[in-house]
Amino acid sequence: MKILVVNAGSSSLKYQLFDMDTQEVLAKGNCDRIGVDGVLKHEAAGKEIKKEIPMPTHAQAVNVLIETLTSKEYGCINDMSEISAVGHRIVHGGPWLIKSVLVDDNVIADLEKCRSLAPLHTGPHLLGIYGCIEAMPGTPQVLVIDTAFHQTMPAEAYTYPIDYDVAQKHHIRRYGFHGTSHRYVSGKAIEYLGNPDAKIVTCHLGNGSSISAVKAGKCMDTSMGFTPLEGVIMGSRCGAIDPAVVPFVMEKEGIPVEEMGNWMNKKCGFLGVSGVSSDLREIEAAVKAGHERATLAYNILAYQIKKYIGSYTAAMNGLDCIVFTAGIGENNSDIRRMATENMEYFGVKLDQEKNLVRGTVEINAPDSKVKILVIPTNEELVIASDTMAIVNESK
Ligand code: AMP
Repeated sequence: MKILVVNAGSSSLKYQLFDMDTQEVLAKGNCDRIGVDGVLKHEAAGKEIKKEIPMPTHAQAVNVLIETLTSKEYGCINDMSEISAVGHRIVHGGPWLIKSVLVDDNVIADLEKCRSLAPLHTGPHLLGIYGCIEAMPGTPQVLVIDTAFHQTMPAEAYTYPIDYDVAQKHHIRRYGFHGTSHRYVSGKAIEYLGNPDAKIVTCHLGNGSSISAVKAGKCMDTSMGFTPLEGVIMGSRCGAIDPAVVPFVMEKEGIPVEEMGNWMNKKCGFLGVSGVSSDLREIEAAVKAGHERATLAYNILAYQIKKYIGSYTAAMNGLDCIVFTAGIGENNSDIRRMATENMEYFGVKLDQEKNLVRGTVEINAPDSKVKILVIPTNEELVIASDTMAIVNESK
């Protein structure tokens, strides 16, 4: 069975085509600059192309994708009928979409409601879905939702202590994000440990970062909240701050409400603190050169990860495993070291040597009570697997 995984943004449509019999990625790429001009980047069968092709709409981008996937030169399938279903990555399902689901009119109506909670993501997702329905009528479409894994949090973890009626009226609560990744890596950790009841802290550290407490495969708490702004310091997002800072900055800096979201999302985090970059590789280089504010940004990240590990250990009454994943978690050994050092009290002891060897899964010392694992995330594979399961169920 072949499954196409689509991640639609406002002007882009990233894709991967999976052969689910082997879990192999047959093709992957990105239709970029949709609605502007159109640039296709595509890889299949060891060949890569990048070319400009007009893509005025998402539906036209899907048509470009279909032509490319079936082309003699760069294709990997003969006909689109070989694709059994399309799985769409959905960032925010709100209170309406709480598990992976086959698209029908009711599901589309529920996703339309999410526009009010996550306008920047939902609009592009809908364009991607409508584009696929238009270009591939009759092919089942499945939504795999990033907030879904966090639905098992208890009320005390997801309720914000604000006016209850206001919260209810506007659906304000902690939803959590990167759920597909937390689900994948915690599942892999459970397999590795051979312990289905394991208490795990999963650290998804990338340009956006979130940390989750996972007990017996169920999410108990997570650092991102109503939006992906809450939690630890990120590339250019502030993470959790005293909410009173927001109106204070608006007043002092004369920033209107419609620009404040941009300020918190684009001007803070590593970029805001360091003044250097939102990319941790550039921060790292600046740290090595002795840049003080870059060092501060770096230290804030490590310190905050440690605080989450500590608080989630308390919340779960124990800790069996810490998992690091995503761009920073998989690649930055310094952050892993700094976030886990001086935690012997918690039974956490890193193996300094193993931590430096790329590709090592278990990086804790042999006498560490807590396992420390580096597990590359694979959200696309989860989306493809859920899509296959749902399509098979619906037959
Ligand atoms: P992601 O959002 O998962 O793609 O992660 C992006 C972040 O990971 C950026 O801050 C990058 O600096 C960092 N990152 C990605 N690849 C590497 C690498 N090979 N070494 C160090 N940091 C990396």
